[in-house]
Amino acid sequence: MLKMLPTGLLAGLPAFSGSACAAGLVPGFRGMPRIATGGIASECSTYSRIRSRMGDFTVLRGQEVFGAPLSLPLLRYEVPFLPTLEASAPPGGPVERGTYETLKAEYLERLRQLLPLDGVYLAMHGALSVEGMDDAEGDWYAATRSVVGPDCLLSAYYDLHGNLSRRAVDTLDALSAYRTAPHVDRVENVMRAADMLTHCLRYGLRPGIVWASIPALLPGEQSSTEWEPGRRLWADLSEYNRLPGILDVSQLVGYVWADEPRAAASVVVTGTDAGAQKRVATELAGRYWAARHEFRFGSPTGTIEECLSRAMGLKTHPVVISDSGDNPGGGGNSDQTFFLQALLKAGTRDVLLGGMTDRPATDACYRAGVGGQLPLSIGATLDSVMCRPVHVKKAVVKHLTAVTRPEDGEAVVEFDGITATLSARRRLYHAAEAFRDIGVDPAQFRIVVLKCGYLHPTMKALASPALMALSPGAIDQDIVHIGNHRRRPTWPWVADLAYEPAPYVSARFGRR
Ligand SMILES: [Zn+2]
Repeated sequence: MLKMLPTGLLAGLPAFSGSACAAGLVPGFRGMPRIATGGIASECSTYSRIRSRMGDFTVLRGQEVFGAPLSLPLLRYEVPFLPTLEASAPPGGPVERGTYETLKAEYLERLRQLLPLDGVYLAMHGALSVEGMDDAEGDWYAATRSVVGPDCLLSAYYDLHGNLSRRAVDTLDALSAYRTAPHVDRVENVMRAADMLTHCLRYGLRPGIVWASIPALLPGEQSSTEWEPGRRLWADLSEYNRLPGILDVSQLVGYVWADEPRAAASVVVTGTDAGAQKRVATELAGRYWAARHEFRFGSPTGTIEECLSRAMGLKTHPVVISDSGDNPGGGGNSDQTFFLQALLKAGTRDVLLGGMTDRPATDACYRAGVGGQLPLSIGATLDSVMCRPVHVKKAVVKHLTAVTRPEDGEAVVEFDGITATLSARRRLYHAAEAFRDIGVDPAQFRIVVLKCGYLHPTMKALASPALMALSPGAIDQDIVHIGNHRRRPTWPWVADLAYEPAPYVSARFGRR
């Protein structure tokens, strides 16, 4: 019971307890603990034919780690965090196996050089997919454990759209995930994961995870916490932190576009009282399951043709339509041409098409220069199987961004009543500023088509109205249509699935 008291107090403790320690509010450490930080993060659709390779990763080594905005909070702790390697890649397809193994080997070597360690803070995402591997994060944790030994505490930072495995739960000691979508609580999430580590090391606590896997998956664009039921389901999670024996409560939507056995929603409760944690996990998992039918998209939806037809019949502007299946922010390619084909077929004019990735077309625009006219093949350069390129007889180059590397190039072209952005690499064109920076005002167009899901606030403010096309792509939001092949029986593919929460207690509890 004595050990349980401080855990329930975690929610009320100052995160940066150096001054609190000096003021006598919390005890000092018994010897300064050694905590490493490292990790690998990406969101990988197994439906994508793109592969993430080394060149796609941003790799921060040693002190470079603290150059990342999300690592800055770690510098404010009384305990120094010892950096190893943090690798992150934009959402996309699975990671090439050799790239993953190279990054893991360097991370483990850097970890080895820091031994002995009392804790490791792991900056992860939870939806990493690696060629030939079903549980990449579990592999990373098992490798970490093999280096740091059985007594070191591992605390992981997760996205809301992460998947978990029994191996991950049996290897980690603590986990925290975002509680908002769109994710506006990133800094808080860093601190929740880091607080658990420093708190447990300060008080000599041995935490563990209780995990309730929920066999229900949602398209990502339904998982917003800005409207119901997401709003209420995540709103009160922090209240559970105050219960004795509970350190942190997370609820994950899971990542639906990973067709692998671990893909599922889940509730994760970290604490020191497995009984109390099981009660919370059971309650929250049951509540989530009961609400699964309520999840909705935030905008009216339809096929590409339905959305286009509706937009053309409206008097308001700009009608903003999400090309949601090809959204690079969630793992889509951003080179698919289904929407462009439909626009040309319908003869729609006064349209802004934002976010097409095409390196050869972008390079060709730079060769032609601003004002140049040229024939263009647009799209399907990253995945030529899913769709075909569109051939434009005459495009006029309206803008070229000044860049020093061709891979950063971006162009604006006009053809057939359509203004389109082209970029050499996959990047987001979600905010109104992204267009204004390249001399395009989305407010002036009748129809704006974006390779995105739910709208960025600046675009939402413009939209009159917003529509979401459930378009084909690597993150097709019509998830029933993509089928379930390797996941366990899961709602909604099994419409009458029965489920009773049965929380799993991490094997880490057994070693205390
Ligand atoms: Zn996410």
